[in-house]
Amino acid sequence: PRPTAALPRVVGAGLRVPVVSGERVEYANLDHAASAPALEEVRDAVDELLPWYASVHRGAGFASQVSTRVYEQARASVRRFLGARPTDTVVFTRNTTDALNLLARSVPRHTSVVLFDAEHHAALLPWRGPNVHRLRTPTDPAEAVAELDRALAATPEGPRLVVATGASNVTGEIWPVAELARVARQHGARIALDAAQLAPHRPVDLRELDVDYAAFSGHKIYAPFGSGVLVGRADWLQASDPYLVGGGATARVADHGDRLGVAWSAVPERHEAGSPNVVGVHALAVACEVLGRHWEQTERHERELLARLRAGLATVPGAHELSLFDGDRDRVGVVSFVVAGQDAGYLAAALSAEHGIGVRDGAFCAHIAVHRLTHGERALRASLGLGSTVEHVDRFVAALRSLVVDGPRWDYELVDGRWTP
Ligand code: PMP
Repeated sequence: PRPTAALPRVVGAGLRVPVVSGERVEYANLDHAASAPALEEVRDAVDELLPWYASVHRGAGFASQVSTRVYEQARASVRRFLGARPTDTVVFTRNTTDALNLLARSVPRHTSVVLFDAEHHAALLPWRGPNVHRLRTPTDPAEAVAELDRALAATPEGPRLVVATGASNVTGEIWPVAELARVARQHGARIALDAAQLAPHRPVDLRELDVDYAAFSGHKIYAPFGSGVLVGRADWLQASDPYLVGGGATARVADHGDRLGVAWSAVPERHEAGSPNVVGVHALAVACEVLGRHWEQTERHERELLARLRAGLATVPGAHELSLFDGDRDRVGVVSFVVAGQDAGYLAAALSAEHGIGVRDGAFCAHIAVHRLTHGERALRASLGLGSTVEHVDRFVAALRSLVVDGPRWDYELVDGRWTP
């Protein structure tokens, strides 16, 4: 299908929510980086599939055949979305966390892993132990590439894997993935990309970037929760034990008296034991198709709103935007900030309670990065996407300004750790 001019529409646009004054206001969801609302096309596709709800692969019935076809077509859609190579496999998972844990369990023993410490916990925590080299994130992306080069030169012979992020979930900054991949390649290392924040905003092409693996989540690319994907080189995944054991992961099971004889399935089924999330995977694949047809409009929309958001934030007294890197890097529509003398949790609560604006506060599952950038404070994050509008951004800036300059209109107290009017 050709790209179409209009921006894809999300469900729930114009939804009104109660605020503390008793009025209802249009909900401004500035938390796309956590989870994006579903696309209307995704909702319609799910609606269309539900009558054919049946388990895949094992049934001979008509609905089961439809489900199986839909499930396998979803793999093809994900392949196209990521520019996968014929030697790549597409394993459906629950989310990015699941996908990166699967990869961590599948690398050969004694693989040297190199990564930077500003990663989201999903990319950071699966890699621990003596063979993991965690690098402090430098403030210059070119230095990151040079440091990776030095670190890889110092790793012992044997399999090596670099784990990198496409775009930071804290600052939205885009990492120099192709350059990191080039250095990895020079050292004979593989590279895995945490594309959870990049995939919703920019095309990710495995061949162009020369990246070996990529993981992302359906719920961040405008599909509902519950589906994610790991795409990449099949060999390590094929050589490893199944991620989970059970039906689907087994080609054959035989009774050998005192033990079971088990032949595991080949990838991708090897790592997809249990009844798969056919509806979720279909939703993810439709989201990929829709995004793939609208990159130009999506990027333009987000760049305009991001510029407006950042300019607005600069007018809020004491507000300070967080950046991993020096200078102004290309970034997706994610902005984290602190406001001097203001508690992030209270500001987030007041934005919601008084203005119907949803932002995130805390350390965003990237504690090392956030605490380093804020000197231990909690931060606020406003993140944009297809559900965002100029009115949402302007209302957010005006509301934040008024909370900071004039103070809240209501009294707040901490109830169970949350500020409550
Ligand atoms: N990596 C990054 C960069 C993320 O932003 C997130 C989600 N916040 C994840 C990984 C984990 O995604 P999920 O919670 O869907 O597993």
